[in-house]
Formats: sequence, structure tokens, C-alpha cells
Amino acid sequence: MKHSTLLLISILISLAVASCSPEKSPPMPASHAAASSMKNAANTDYRTQMPYGSAPRNPDLGLPSNFSKSSGVTFSRVSVPGPYVALTFDDGPHASNTPRLLDILRARNVKATFYVIGKNVDLYPNIVRRTVAEGHELGNHTYTHPKLSALGQDRVFSEIRKCDDAIMRAAGVRPRTLRPPYGALTQAQRVSIHSTFGYPTIMWAVDPLDWKRPGVSVVTSRIVSATSNGSIILVHDLHASSVDAMPATIDALLRKGYKFVTVSQLLAMGGSASASINPQPSALAQSQVGE
Ligand SMILES: [Zn+2]
Repeated sequence: MKHSTLLLISILISLAVASCSPEKSPPMPASHAAASSMKNAANTDYRTQMPYGSAPRNPDLGLPSNFSKSSGVTFSRVSVPGPYVALTFDDGPHASNTPRLLDILRARNVKATFYVIGKNVDLYPNIVRRTVAEGHELGNHTYTHPKLSALGQDRVFSEIRKCDDAIMRAAGVRPRTLRPPYGALTQAQRVSIHSTFGYPTIMWAVDPLDWKRPGVSVVTSRIVSATSNGSIILVHDLHASSVDAMPATIDALLRKGYKFVTVSQLLAMGGSASASINPQPSALAQSQVGE
């Protein structure tokens, strides 16, 4: 009798367990049915993936971007009244790295400035359009990325004009600043480009040498330690490892209280007399002119 009681109990337990199990399976066919019935419905639940987890957010700034032509010919940083910095990305657009970077920036409400190569603009006009649509600024980085300081004025102007036109064709906007490839531009060239195109030459105050691929954490620590108010920061969105370094870099700067603005916003904030010029490239350019 004892054995049969135990048997009965064990049967009852197994029935109870069994009765729980089927309750787990019905959602499968139900969800399949729901999915098939929603095939043609808009997917309103979709949200852009935030691949790096929750991120701090750059504040909405809405700052003016109209800088005066008289504010200066060359800038590597700008004297600003607060913790404002400009992130700049050179040599794109790149088919996969630039869209990935745009996702990273969008997740943090960060607006940056992209010094694009005209040839790449012609290859990827959709990426350029997206860049503008998401509030970023485009800058001129020439059409084929030559060393401008080694070229005559006709070639220099043609390189700049062709890039300008490519940007206009792709995105319907004109760039307002120039970054010379390799930073190579004589002082005389800077002055003539400024008077002809209205472009100030934009150098940089923070250079992590990311193109040498020193490693993601090195890029981040170099940028974070060298950045101060008014810094123009140089990065290359051509390289996957540079883009890999951006989430941690941007988040660290945001946590330190920095606010990201475009180059034009930074220049507009600086006013006319307060723009400071990086002495090194100017001195180099002067000596090249002298020679
Ligand atoms: Zn470049």
C-alpha cells in the first residue's frame, strides 16, 4: 500500500509538471501567427540599435554658425567662453565606417564636422546626404587628397572647386571651411584661398595619430588628455579602429563636461579678435614661403 501511495504521488507530481510545460509552448505558434499577420504593417517598434549600451548625451545647443570672414585665415583652436570642442573626421565618406560613426554620434546627440574627399563624395552621395540630414557640417578636403603645398594655384583651386561641387551635387550644401590634406598649405596659399573661396584653413589642436592605428584605448586616452576648451580634434573616419575608439572617447569627454559643436559654431563663438592660431604650421608655412 505504501508503494502504491508513493506511485500515486509521483504520478500526480509528474502530471503537475507536465501541465506546466505545455503552457510554455503555446506562445510560439501564437507569435508566429502574429508575425505573419503583421507582414505588411509598418514596424513602429523599431529603434536604432545602440551597440555600445546607454551613452551620455550631448546637450541640444542650437548655437549660431555664422562666423565672420574677418575672424581669421587659420585656426587650430578657438578661444571660447565655455567647454566647447569640435570633433572633425577626415578622408571619408567610407562605405561602412562612416555610417557606423553616424550611428555612434546620433546615439549621443553629437554634431561633428566631416572633411570629406570629393572623390569619395561622388562614390557615396547617400552617406553625405545622411551626414547633412543628421545635423553635421561638411568641410572641403580637396577632390583627390594631394599635397597642396607642392601644387600651383590652378591645380589647388581646381582641387578645392571640384570638392565643393561634389558636395553641392550630393547634399545641396556648400562647405565653409577647408582642411588641407596632411595639413600642408603655405601661408600665401591660405591667404589666397581665404580671399577666393572664403574658406578659413582649419588645422587641429588635438591629434591622436589614429591613422597609425596605435590601438583603440590609446586613441581615446590621447584625445581625452589633450582636449581643452576650444580644441579642434582630428580623427579619421576612414579607419575602422578610429571609429571603434569614438564611443569611449566621446563618452569620456561628455562626462568631463565638454559640449560638442561644429567647426563653424566654434568659429562663430570665438568672435573676431579671439581666434588663436597654431604657431607650428604657420611657422612651417612661413619658412616654406621663404624658401
Ligand atoms: Zn586627409
